[in-house]
Amino acid sequence: MCTEVLPVSAKPAATPFSATMGGSQGGSDYYDMYLAVISSYNQALMNQSTTRNFCIIAHIDHGKSTLADRMLELTGTVQKRDMQAQLLDSMDLEREKGITIKLQPVKMKWNDYTLNLIDTPGHVDFSYEVSRSLAACEGAVLVVDCSQGIQAQTLANVYLAIEAGLEIIPVLNKIDLPAADPERVAGEVASLLGCKPETILRVSGKTGAGVPEVLDAIVEQVPPPKGEPEAPLRALIFDSIYDIHRGVILFIRVVDGVIKRHDELTLMATRAEGLAVEVGTFAPKQTATPEILTGQIGYVVTNLKSISEARVGDTVTLESALAKGQQLEALAGYRQVKPFVFAGFFPTSNEQYPALKDALEKLKLNDAALVYEPESSQVLGFGYRVGFLGLLHLEIIKERLEREYGLDMVVTSPSTDYIVRNTAGEETTIRSAADLPDPSNIQEVREPWIKGEVVVPGDYIGGVIKLINQIRGIQTNLSYVDEKLALVAFDAPLANVLTDFYDSLKSITSGYGSFNYELSDYRTEQLVRLDILVAGDTVDALSLIAHKDEAPRIGKQIVEKLKTLIPRQNFEVSLQAAIGGKIIAREDVKAVRKDVIAKLYGGDVTRKNKLLDKQKKGKKRMKRVGKVDIPAEAFMVLVSKDN
Ligand code: GDP
Ligand code: MG
Repeated sequence: MCTEVLPVSAKPAATPFSATMGGSQGGSDYYDMYLAVISSYNQALMNQSTTRNFCIIAHIDHGKSTLADRMLELTGTVQKRDMQAQLLDSMDLEREKGITIKLQPVKMKWNDYTLNLIDTPGHVDFSYEVSRSLAACEGAVLVVDCSQGIQAQTLANVYLAIEAGLEIIPVLNKIDLPAADPERVAGEVASLLGCKPETILRVSGKTGAGVPEVLDAIVEQVPPPKGEPEAPLRALIFDSIYDIHRGVILFIRVVDGVIKRHDELTLMATRAEGLAVEVGTFAPKQTATPEILTGQIGYVVTNLKSISEARVGDTVTLESALAKGQQLEALAGYRQVKPFVFAGFFPTSNEQYPALKDALEKLKLNDAALVYEPESSQVLGFGYRVGFLGLLHLEIIKERLEREYGLDMVVTSPSTDYIVRNTAGEETTIRSAADLPDPSNIQEVREPWIKGEVVVPGDYIGGVIKLINQIRGIQTNLSYVDEKLALVAFDAPLANVLTDFYDSLKSITSGYGSFNYELSDYRTEQLVRLDILVAGDTVDALSLIAHKDEAPRIGKQIVEKLKTLIPRQNFEVSLQAAIGGKIIAREDVKAVRKDVIAKLYGGDVTRKNKLLDKQKKGKKRMKRVGKVDIPAEAFMVLVSKDN
């Protein structure tokens, strides 16, 4: 569209700068101003023609962050001696887990071009962030580990990229590995994208081989950003963070117009208003600039109070643009992300309750998807029911609360939400089995279902379909990426993919199967409340909602697992699973006379004290139900792996 540079004699369609130049300008002054406008207009266009915005997409662990590291080095954005592995993964947790949670944009120079790279999180919990970063780019480098081949999130990301109209540059990574099979994987990728296998670039993020060619391909193949420099500002928020010193910072892609320091902004979806306190680019640290031009990627420090006002996907414009009554259409695709996995978080001691509240408030500042509400349990006391985008999100928040805020908590098994319609026809959403009304008051209960996709070599299809049936899933389609690689599409209840579906898939497919899903709808099912009784007492925090046909198996599994988790007491403890008062499974923890100190023959005081200390610590993490002490892990019984 607007990629041509205008000659000085041509008059641009509009002169939005006139507002900032003041009213009546006469004669040659006006001409100078006019020239200035033209030249800044041309500059903006030049700027667009030498800019490439791209992201890197891949299945998790295929090497996005490592490839980005090599690009940073090659372009001299980061000196080799300052290089740490996966530089763009800035959180400690990310480095430790080797995953990308928060995306981190960066600006690089390659020959005469400006390349803006957005690294994306590969995990399904954060797929909304992936889709927003795609919307901020014109191209995507598709990384496929050629010792693995195409996997479920490779496909999911490719579909997203195609939908967003991006130029896709496929790259086979890890060619240095002995297990690499670039020929086979090139075939897979070629049949997926409809390109020639020999044109696909081969690289190693580890050694750096082939990476300059990738940068060249980005310059040649990714189109420059479109957009009208002289139109009213429209910028897409593809991420927002809360910085304790600077407040809410927006990561934006300017689509039309220009954003300058001190601009008064309006966010079109939330209608929040704020000031651009500072604007700048990622080079790779945030570096202030006077403005961010059309087509560029940058950040805006605002005076907004919280990131709930500055949601990912929203459109930033100028207050003045809206005030003029101009018809301005928000950029497409905004949607509010909703958590759908819930777990109870209870501090082990009541004194920590205010600290937990405070910590959740702080984390929420930086995580608009996090929601929480107070919850109380007879057994666990006061805590919060916290909502997440998936299990990884849950695990990250739990770990951050423990590490960064020093909290000691009992976390309950995650559950989904359910829609309950009572006999009077009223519908409520519940997030905990404890909130399920008496069965006599229930007309129906609906549970969330997902649309899932498993990508697997053809030999394993039988096993995968069996597994899908086991989780009450329904296979909806079977297709092939190429002659060997199959794609099994299915619908299934979300609750059943949250627990051990992924592990089972990995084990029945010798590690080759991969899985991706998205939420679809709520379906009416025969759902019941399953209670767990310890020594005859119902433990509310262990109750869950399960399908009528699955409840007996789940009940049995839980009591068996609890038996291994609950230490022996000096009396026998019964563990029972019950549906509506009817016992469906039972195990017993045998009694033991446990006198640990008697075991110590000598009179070694330090050892004795150490042992008592250890017992005390263990006790603190125990929750007492009647006369029985239950360890914290037992409340996560559904997902805890160590038996
Ligand atoms: P991401 O999840 O896609 O960001 O993947 P990472 O960049 O974190 O890489 C995942 C793992 O693969 C890390 O252990 C990397 O060191 C390793 N890796 C990445 N690229 C290469 C490569 O080209 N060769 C080899 N041998 N290992 C690589
Ligand atoms: Mg990464």
